[in-house]
Amino acid sequence: MSNRTLAILKPDCVRKNFQGKVLSKIQEAGFKVLAMKQIRLTKSQAEGFYAVHKGRPFFAELTAFMSSGPCVPIALERNDAVATFRKTIGATDPAEAEPGTVRREFADSKGENIVHGSDSDENAKIEIGFFFSDSELLG
Ligand code: UDP
Ligand code: MG
Repeated sequence: MSNRTLAILKPDCVRKNFQGKVLSKIQEAGFKVLAMKQIRLTKSQAEGFYAVHKGRPFFAELTAFMSSGPCVPIALERNDAVATFRKTIGATDPAEAEPGTVRREFADSKGENIVHGSDSDENAKIEIGFFFSDSELLG
């Protein structure tokens, strides 16, 4: 079934000027872009987006990083979008990610790992709604 996931090109991706390289890999993996923009999250917006990780030891570092510069949220569509996208980006820690994945190719560390991907259809819907209104999703 064709469905949706949310990607974010994280602030390290933007700082390194790797947006084009990463978007190419995403498009080569068969994803269609429904919506995309560049924004800078405030610390409290980053805390809201990652609320599920509140209380984890990396929460403060993660939300400081995600609000440290502009990022690029992208709503994507493909069949089996969530699982296929997570396969395309690879494991959270780039050292553990399969060769050829986005994180293995472009990321420096488990914290600064270039790209976010939703982990379920339910969270994809919530996360897309965090950044985009329905009328901005153009298929
Ligand atoms: N993270 C981290 N240290 C960890 C685990 C996660 O810095 O030990 C950061 C990393 O940027 C990761 C994000 O927190 O992408 C969200 O963690 P999650 O476990 O959801 O990983 P993901 O779904 O992004 O692969
Ligand atoms: Mg996650």
